[in-house]
Amino acid sequence: MRRKIVVGNWKMNNTIAEAIELSSAIAEELRDGGASCEVGIAPAFPALSGVHGVLEGTGIHLAAQNCHYENDGAYTGEVSVRMLEEAGCSYVIAGHSERRQYFGETSAIVNLKVKKVLSEGLRVILCVGETLEEREQGITGEVVTGQVKDGLEGIADIADVVIAYEPVWAIGTGKTATSQQAQDVHASIRETVAALYGQQAASDLRIQYGGSVKPSNAEELFAMPDIDGGLIGGASLKAEDFVAIVNAAGR
Ligand code: PEP
Repeated sequence: MRRKIVVGNWKMNNTIAEAIELSSAIAEELRDGGASCEVGIAPAFPALSGVHGVLEGTGIHLAAQNCHYENDGAYTGEVSVRMLEEAGCSYVIAGHSERRQYFGETSAIVNLKVKKVLSEGLRVILCVGETLEEREQGITGEVVTGQVKDGLEGIADIADVVIAYEPVWAIGTGKTATSQQAQDVHASIRETVAALYGQQAASDLRIQYGGSVKPSNAEELFAMPDIDGGLIGGASLKAEDFVAIVNAAGR
C-alpha cells in the first residue's frame, strides 16, 4: 500500500521570516491533527535553514525546489545537493515545468539532477507534464512517457523516486485536470515504469498530481487509484489550505 505524499512548493515566495511563520503554522496545525500522509515543504533556498529549525522533530520533510548536478565548482548562483542535504533537505524537486520553461532545463539536465540527488542519498520528485498545445495535439501520452524515460535514464533503482504529474496548463492557472484526466495519465506513467522496472517497482512508486490543487478538489483527485498525493503550489502558501489538502490525502 502506497503512502500518499503531499509537498508544498512555495516557489519564489516568502522571505525567511515569512517562511518561518508559515512553516510554524503548518507544523502547529499538523501536530494537533497528526498527518496521516507524508508531508513536505519546499521553501526558497535562503529560508531552508530557518524552516529546517521549525520542522525538526515534526516528521515534516524539508524539500528543495531545485539543485545543480555537480558537487561544487564555478557555477555562479547554483546550489549543490550536498549543500541542500546539510541544510536539512531530504527531498529535491527536479524538472519542474517552470525550470524547463523559463530556465532552459532540458530532459538531459533533469536526468543529471535526478542522478545526483539519488547518488547523494536524498529522494527526488521528478516533475513531468504536457503543455496545453501538446494536449490539444493529442500527444500527452507520448510527451509524458518521454519525460519519464528521459528523467530516469540510467537509474537502476527507483525506490527513492516520486514522480509528479503536473500538466503545464493547470499550474497556477486555476484550471485543474479532471480527476479522470489525471488518473489516465497517472495510470500510463505507472505502465511505463512497469515496463522499465517491473510490476513491483511500479506499484510501489508514488505519483503525485500537481496543478491548481485546492481544498475543494483535493479529495476527489486523491481518491483516484493511481494518484498518490499532490505537489501543491499556490494553495501551499496558506497554512489552512495546505493543511486541508494534507488532511484530504489522509482520508
Ligand atoms: C506547482 O507549481 O507545482 C503547482 C502545482 O502549482 P499550483 O498548485 O499553483 O498550480
